[in-house]
Amino acid sequence: MTLDVKALRAQFPILQREIDGKPLVYLDNAATTQKPQVVLDAIIDFYTTTNANVHRGAHFLSDEATRRYEKARDDVAAFINANGREEVIWTAGTTESINLVARGLGQLLKAGEEVVVTEMEHHANLVTWQQACKVSGGTLKVAPIFENGELDVDAFSALLNDKTRLVAFPHVSNALGTVNPIKELTAKAKAVNALVLVDGAQGIAHGGVDVQAIGCDFYAFSGHKLFAPTGIGALWGRKSVLENWPVWLTGGEMIADVTYQDATWGQLPNRLEAGTPNIAGVIGLGAAVNWFSELDLAAVQAHEQALLASAHEQASAIDGMRVIGTAPKKAGVMSFMLGNAHPADVGFILDRQGVAIRTGDNCAQPLMKKFGIPGTARASFSIYNTLEEVDKLYDALRKANMMLA
Ligand code: PMP
Repeated sequence: MTLDVKALRAQFPILQREIDGKPLVYLDNAATTQKPQVVLDAIIDFYTTTNANVHRGAHFLSDEATRRYEKARDDVAAFINANGREEVIWTAGTTESINLVARGLGQLLKAGEEVVVTEMEHHANLVTWQQACKVSGGTLKVAPIFENGELDVDAFSALLNDKTRLVAFPHVSNALGTVNPIKELTAKAKAVNALVLVDGAQGIAHGGVDVQAIGCDFYAFSGHKLFAPTGIGALWGRKSVLENWPVWLTGGEMIADVTYQDATWGQLPNRLEAGTPNIAGVIGLGAAVNWFSELDLAAVQAHEQALLASAHEQASAIDGMRVIGTAPKKAGVMSFMLGNAHPADVGFILDRQGVAIRTGDNCAQPLMKKFGIPGTARASFSIYNTLEEVDKLYDALRKANMMLA
């Protein structure tokens, strides 16, 4: 099966926009994806017909809001094959999900124990663990990658030992596009009894995330990279681990019993969700997950690979273009340098052609330093992008090359 990309595009109102009289070519999907009409409608409908706080009102709207909100939890749990709805904790996104785990780990980690990450981490999956180690006297170990952006799995394995308390790595690298062998890495970490967190920010939108099959303990992701609104995401955690995980946010909704001097915590998922949640965001995420699930997964992946293959192929014809990240298994992300041009200048010229890409350090400063570059330009593809848009990217790059020569 192939994707009906034309029909898909028609569901995204923003893709009809023109920038400076030129059709928008949106190639910044690793930063955030656009939202289909069904997601926009779900949010508007919630505020138009149901708006009320959840879990607390003794009235019709509050019951209805709670039902819709909790239905989204069921939908997300099914989407990632969680072993129960209570394993899905709502957060503001990947960053907050990782912080929830890292703040807890900071309390559990003993001096001398170790956390292992990789050289390709986004700051969200690096700085968090640095801080957890700092407060607890733990040590952060960093597994190296090869020049092509692939993880050195042997070197990763060599870092694991009986002091390893937690291992964290990205499912897909936002900067390099590398798809990591997450089942294999998880199995290796489990062999030394370490906890495993997968940063799924980029992995979630590529379909087929099955948290039970991965075997990890935590999978963190953001809704906004999956056609849902910003400000909502989830932490999936194994129930037996989450049940005993130290709470990090305290306040309303997460408690069982409160006195002036003390409090006890409620059951999952509430014990890790304090305060009024992003109700419309949750409902939007539920709508996005249900919409995405209707697509043919194999067709989604084949389309993304076709876009990436065309992008890689055309790169060799551009004078001075260097792709950063050429691992054999990649998702639809292409970071690159154009000669000695600063990525910001490349981005500016592309923007004038209606082509939206990301430029900068990709929230991965140590990784950029490793490659000896200030940052990259990055084109990233989603299901609604077309091969013609990849060609437009290259038309714009040829123009940039001429202007910057
Ligand atoms: N990890 C990776 C690999 C990412 O790409 C991102 C988003 N760029 C994050 C973590 C953080 O996600 P968010 O900003 O949505 O919390």
